[in-house]
Amino acid sequence: MVDFFDDAEEAAFRQVVRDFIAEHGEKGRGSNDGEGSSRGRLRPWREALVSRGWIAPAWPVEVGGAGLSLRQQFILNQELAEHGLANVGGLGVNFFGPALLVHGTEEQKREHLGALLRGETMWAQGWSEPGSGSDLASLQTRAVRQGDEYILNGQKIWTSGAQHADMMYMLARTDPDAPKHRGISLLTFSLRQPGVSVRPLTTMDDRQPFNEVFFEDVHVPVKDRVGDENRGWYVGMTVTDFERSSIGSNVGAARRLREIVKLAQDQPRHQVPGADNPQWRVQFADRWVEAEVSKLFAYRIVSMQSAGLIPNYEGSMAKVYLSELNQRIARTALGLYGLYGMLWDSGRPEAEAGAAVRSYIGAVSSTIAGGTSEIQRNIVATRGLDLPRG
Ligand SMILES: Cc1cc2nc3c(=O)[nH]c(=O)nc-3n(C[C@H](O)[C@H](O)[C@H](O)COP(=O)(O)OP(=O)(O)OC[C@H]3O[C@@H](n4cnc5c(N)ncnc54)[C@H](O)[C@@H]3O)c2cc1C
Repeated sequence: MVDFFDDAEEAAFRQVVRDFIAEHGEKGRGSNDGEGSSRGRLRPWREALVSRGWIAPAWPVEVGGAGLSLRQQFILNQELAEHGLANVGGLGVNFFGPALLVHGTEEQKREHLGALLRGETMWAQGWSEPGSGSDLASLQTRAVRQGDEYILNGQKIWTSGAQHADMMYMLARTDPDAPKHRGISLLTFSLRQPGVSVRPLTTMDDRQPFNEVFFEDVHVPVKDRVGDENRGWYVGMTVTDFERSSIGSNVGAARRLREIVKLAQDQPRHQVPGADNPQWRVQFADRWVEAEVSKLFAYRIVSMQSAGLIPNYEGSMAKVYLSELNQRIARTALGLYGLYGMLWDSGRPEAEAGAAVRSYIGAVSSTIAGGTSEIQRNIVATRGLDLPRG
């Protein structure tokens, strides 16, 4: 059953969170641009969260979390998202850490979880390869076992933040003769070692969010494999389930809409011609309704998690809906500015609209990252609706 309301204890916790935000929120304004900002600009914010165990709120207290219930974690994430505060956990805390809690050895948990929470290590996710994205199980990066080490050769691509990261968790082929899903292992290792080279890729909005990463005879100790040899696919899918079920941004859409209005109100009236256009207002109202729907997906996921269920196609539904909504929101924002919306040069006074065009271009990749919309729809069709595979 989907539960929309706080009970008395949850309402009290929500107030604790709001008080915390009132005291520390200024430190966490703006997004985490992934360029090590949780170590730089956002460090005080991270430290404030760490002091409460709120970097990984639902992890057990013994490993540095706050031991909160999943509902409390949801309330915390909801409040942070609605106040526009940065998520500083990164994919190490948000996706890999929870999977390590499920599949890791005690030694691996001791080695990695504390360092992750303290922000001492940043992680990159090595899944995609030039020939393997949607069909990830066809990956070719090879790990050959030699005694108590694997020797790694191959290439990853689109690896977010690898140029700033210390560590990588990745999938490599350990048995080329087995059926493709059953010959893969999940390995972890330092990116700062001989044989690893990282080459940033530049996007059309002139940023470098991701990289190519090359491996040439990289030595990885067998003890740093997570899960059994050749069973890494299933460990990797746990990581991916956490990725698709991460819900913070589902509750942030309404805040983004409020920000769009605020930014437009600060502009000279002639630079926001859309504001007087009834069709634009209809579009904006539609986005508002959709932002509410997006929240319902988040409630559904947290209700399932609280009942001990692992969201699967439900995570895909939330992901496809939110990423496409992000694009519609960006298009609606751009529509406010008419021809001014094409200005990019932030040196010109009229170019405040540049923020709209930058988020429009930035939103293009959201339906690709974390599995494309087509792949999410395939998951909904086959696992959610029991339709036969196409
Ligand atoms: C911003 C961003 C960040 C990323 N970060 C990372 C990261 O940190 N680590 C990482 O490993 N990867 C990362 N990726 C890569 C991402 O996971 C892949 O781009 C994605 O899975 C798609 O793979 P591909 O690019 O190889 O496209 P392809 O798989 O080649 O797909 C091409 C097109 O074919 C369609 N298609 C493919 N198969 C099917 C099918 N069976 N049915 C219907 N349509 C299909 C796709 O939907 C797509 O439109 C990132 C990508 C982006 C955009």
